[in-house]
Amino acid sequence: MDFSNQVVLVTGASRGIGAAIADFISERGGHVIGTATSDISPGKSPVEEWVKVDFSDRESSSSFLDWIRKLDTLSACVNNAGINIIKPLVDVDKLDYDRIQKVNLEGPYNVIQAAAPIMSKNGGGRFVNIASIWASITKSHRSLYSTTKAGLLGLTRGAAVELAPNNILVNAVSPGFTMTDLTRSSLSVDEIANLSSNVPLNRFAEVDEIARVVAFLASTENTYLTGQNLVVDGGFTVV
Ligand code: NAP
Repeated sequence: MDFSNQVVLVTGASRGIGAAIADFISERGGHVIGTATSDISPGKSPVEEWVKVDFSDRESSSSFLDWIRKLDTLSACVNNAGINIIKPLVDVDKLDYDRIQKVNLEGPYNVIQAAAPIMSKNGGGRFVNIASIWASITKSHRSLYSTTKAGLLGLTRGAAVELAPNNILVNAVSPGFTMTDLTRSSLSVDEIANLSSNVPLNRFAEVDEIARVVAFLASTENTYLTGQNLVVDGGFTVV
């Protein structure tokens, strides 16, 4: 994969899967613009440009969208920023609902709306939306997360169909259990082993294994795959 002369926006690039995607694309020559909710010192490798946005905040989102609209060029955009709220359905309140909906679904929707005209003007582009296995299956206390991630798959299909005439390809990647700093610090070794035993490949994904698939979909190597959801879960959802 070669990202030379390509500008790629990765939301939520400060850590976890987003940071791995930014690394992977940058190592292959891409100019990566990353977002985070807080200020990041300029030049923090490998992101060339940092932009601050909190999708749960209307004002912050709106100025970020204005910033996108002023870009001259954008080859690809990865809607990666996301949060999880794990709660029994009956305890979910409006604040929870609004917050997760704004970050996981309204954010990507608005970003696609703002960025698509720039890609169209430059002859095409790629969007990759980071969903989750919990978009297609679910478990207790995941109703909020599943609702937003399933919505993201709907957005992926809807945008793919409408933007195809402009040579813009839109896909989703659904990671399964993935080793991030957060996973390492929040799960014990026994919990990780226990969850891994339900995965045919018997382990969590490393962030690079997700990044590689995302990068393919964001690259010009992908010429005919659109509107799809690639589930990268070590076989978890097929058992
Ligand atoms: P993470 O380590 O928690 O990082 C989340 C990223 O999103 C950070 O860069 C964070 O920025 C940004 N972010 C958080 N709240 C935001 C907000 N309100 N507005 C804008 N940006 C915000 O997450 P991750 O585990 O790498 O997950 C990345 C994506 O993969 C998410 O969409 C998640 O749902 C999905 N996913 C993860 C797993 C997994 O096992 N890790 C599995 C399936 C799907 P700050 O650093 O500034 O907070």
